[in-house]
Amino acid sequence: MAEKKLNGTVIVTYRCNARCSMCNRYKAPSRQEEEISIETIKKLPKMYFTNITGGEPFIRTDLKEIVRELYKRSDRIVISTNGFFTDRIVDLCKEFSDIGIRISIEGLEQTNNEIRGLQDGFNRGYTTLKKLVDMGMKDVGFGMTVQDKNASDLVPLYQLSNEMGMEFATASLHNSFYFVEAKNIICDRPKVAQNFENLVNELLKSNSPKKWFRAYFNHGLINYIYGQKRILPCDMSFDTFFIDPYGDIMPCNGTKDKEVMGNLNHQTWDELWNGPEAEAVRKKVRCCDRNCWMIGSVSPAMHKYIWVPMWWVIKHKFLFFWKKKKYSMYENKIARAYRGGKVTKEELDACSTCDMCAVINDGLSVESKEQLKGRSGEEIVDADIEAQMKK
Ligand code: SF4
Repeated sequence: MAEKKLNGTVIVTYRCNARCSMCNRYKAPSRQEEEISIETIKKLPKMYFTNITGGEPFIRTDLKEIVRELYKRSDRIVISTNGFFTDRIVDLCKEFSDIGIRISIEGLEQTNNEIRGLQDGFNRGYTTLKKLVDMGMKDVGFGMTVQDKNASDLVPLYQLSNEMGMEFATASLHNSFYFVEAKNIICDRPKVAQNFENLVNELLKSNSPKKWFRAYFNHGLINYIYGQKRILPCDMSFDTFFIDPYGDIMPCNGTKDKEVMGNLNHQTWDELWNGPEAEAVRKKVRCCDRNCWMIGSVSPAMHKYIWVPMWWVIKHKFLFFWKKKKYSMYENKIARAYRGGKVTKEELDACSTCDMCAVINDGLSVESKEQLKGRSGEEIVDADIEAQMKK
């Protein structure tokens, strides 16, 4: 029988040089010496898809070796990055021309730089993407986290990526230990949803089946920002996993506190994946009410329950072309209820994961926490990058 392949996300580091307003991970970096080793990477199972992420993955100067190893055990690799280390990204892509690169850009120039807090971040990200396209890389694109501040840039940024022949991935605000954040919330839901509605219609208009399914994903984001139950089940930890810089295997990056299925530094994959800790986490996932809608947990669900998005796509393509009827955000019952005053903003806020009083567990090891005594995360990472540049 063919070996079952999984969907994995490898968080190679918690160090980050950006200062995003919706993520505090840059304040809580991992200690470089503890970050996942090639020996641990070699213990990972076969995967049909691997996302490499951080922190900022290109802060690791040995990322090429990590990719070389993952390349042997994964059918497809996509790296999520802020695009700051242009030379490192270009150099890696010269060796691995068929991997995917997603650069986080949070809007047009001014909005992006305000949200990301990276000096000249938009131009650096854009220049990196342009270079990759000029090199003939096929699987490159933008990744945007939509919120109140940048919602109006959503369609213009999509159009820009379209003109450049690039992919365009979206997300919205989430709270979790991974983002070291519990206060993210969308304030003006109808305004943000309206921009998603416009994007859905742009995507449905295209000739690309991939974009029609992206339209469904964005339809799900409208449902998410209104705090509703996921429109597809969440099966994280069953055929999907995350591994953090310490070798801990987790179901996902959306939980309030870090959930650990086992540790790959100390266990074999089979021992861990079939062990009691993993089983206990799976039980929790079955009752999880956080209703995340991030591509990491939605993409496997869209493949598994393909008939649900498929039916949605067929219906909307039919309506779009034969009846000239565009998609409306008010197909979501909750959007109609809010417009009609049947549900209040306070009630919707209570359905979100935002918790102004939460004590945030950042998932750091004792040693990584230790290095934060007397120095901030930003100081540690800035000094680290400065030392790397001098070499
Ligand atoms: S809904 Fe799924 S992805 Fe989100 S925290 Fe729960 S198990 Fe994780």
